[in-house]
Amino acid sequence: MDEEEIRDLLGDPDEVGWGGMTSRVWKCSRCGLVHMFRSLVRPPAPCSNCAGIAFERLSGRGKDPLASQQMRA
Ligand SMILES: [Zn+2]
Repeated sequence: MDEEEIRDLLGDPDEVGWGGMTSRVWKCSRCGLVHMFRSLVRPPAPCSNCAGIAFERLSGRGKDPLASQQMRA
């Protein structure tokens, strides 16, 4: 997945009112790996990288989680 695809995914506005623990973008709280999906999914536990089960939901609204991810890398 290249950056353009990622930005395309994050740029999609979330539907207002959808509740629950689903997202297109999940960040592993343990290793920081960002998991991205084409549709809304539950946390992709366990993490394919570190097997962690704690995930942070990212929406792409407001802050740009990917930008901070890239700065850290
Ligand atoms: Zn992980």
